[in-house]
Amino acid sequence: MAPRDVTGGPFSLPSLPYDEGALAPLISEKTLKVHHGKHHKGYVDKLNELVKDTAFADMSLEEIVAETCGDDDNKKIFNNAAQAWNHTFYWRCLSPKTSEPSKELAAAIAKNFGSMAAFKKEFAAAATEHFGSGYAWLIYEGGKLKVKETVNADTPMASGTPCLLALDVWEHAYYLDYKNVRKDHVDVVVEKLLNWDFASANFKKSR
Ligand code: MN
Repeated sequence: MAPRDVTGGPFSLPSLPYDEGALAPLISEKTLKVHHGKHHKGYVDKLNELVKDTAFADMSLEEIVAETCGDDDNKKIFNNAAQAWNHTFYWRCLSPKTSEPSKELAAAIAKNFGSMAAFKKEFAAAATEHFGSGYAWLIYEGGKLKVKETVNADTPMASGTPCLLALDVWEHAYYLDYKNVRKDHVDVVVEKLLNWDFASANFKKSR
């Protein structure tokens, strides 16, 4: 049976939008192989196992996340569905190519954060200082761009909040390359790997 990610499970692991070695040496091929091929794949496989023969089997990933968010009885399904979605989103937030925000996004960043440098500082600080596993996000909420932190698998998408960028700060995202020094990983991603074309497209969709 062909994968039906758009309309429902079984879900498949999406390919990376670049080669496994494309972000090296900033993020090594080894890290991407494990992070995408083992961690991300693990969430997708586990989700398929958990939703098989349940009411969730025919839902889209977004629907499963929204439906199970905050529901203790379906915590495992939420965690794996949210992680499957978060990772697919996260891969697209990175790019080996240099990019710039659209005029509209650049103007909104200047308005809401003061400057691009101020945004980067706030985003990097949120990612670096986040305690434990989770993500730093750039979201569009209540007509404003904001930096947000989430814990573990939690995702702003669960409540329908438009996401522009995500930075995965689980140790598996950087430990092989940067060991305990999360800050060095975060600084490199924020300065050199953010995909502003993707963020700009997300901003356009969000308004
Ligand atoms: Mn991850």
